[in-house]
Amino acid sequence: MKKIICIYGRPAAGKTTQAALIAPEFNLQQFGMGDRLRAEIQSGSTLGQEIKKYVDQGILITDEIMEQVIRTIKIRPEEKGIVFDGFPRMLSQAGMLEKIIEEADYEFIGFFYLKVSVETALQRITARADATNRQDDKDQEAVKNRLDVFEEESVPLLEFYKNKNRLIEIDGEKSIEEVCAEIKKYL
Ligand code: AMP
Repeated sequence: MKKIICIYGRPAAGKTTQAALIAPEFNLQQFGMGDRLRAEIQSGSTLGQEIKKYVDQGILITDEIMEQVIRTIKIRPEEKGIVFDGFPRMLSQAGMLEKIIEEADYEFIGFFYLKVSVETALQRITARADATNRQDDKDQEAVKNRLDVFEEESVPLLEFYKNKNRLIEIDGEKSIEEVCAEIKKYL
């Protein structure tokens, strides 16, 4: 049975970094939602232009757009599953994921919550803004919105996976190697 793993946390908690380490080692497809959305924006498609309005402001794209994006997920026969980073990010998306799991008969391994403080998130966002060209890391208003979105959406989402017995909390303040080793204990 193919596996599904989700990595969640505040902006800059290390979601994509960890997904990129785990995916090749376990032969999983890495599906980074933020990266996927930025690629769509880059393509210049009509969908990308619509997505850009949300991403630039640091707010979540609508369920309607998200439904279109997740329809593009294709798992190759040689892949043993998918590691999502940044999806689901709100309760309605957890419902979308439930449907995917049911329809394709995936095994849901866990919702890994990488815990970092607001201070750590801000430090890492500032460092990343200097190193990369992400507009939503450079724009103070977008950064604030992204942190606020996390505060608003995380409580019901974490509750949902806790009730399902699938919530795995990881100390995201630790080194990249230590966090990775923690996650791997469950894979
Ligand atoms: P990230 O690269 O994970 O920090 O995501 C960058 C931006 O993409 C977010 O601020 C949102 O605008 C958008 N985004 C990423 N993941 C999601 C999601 N699961 N639902 C809605 N919007 C998302």
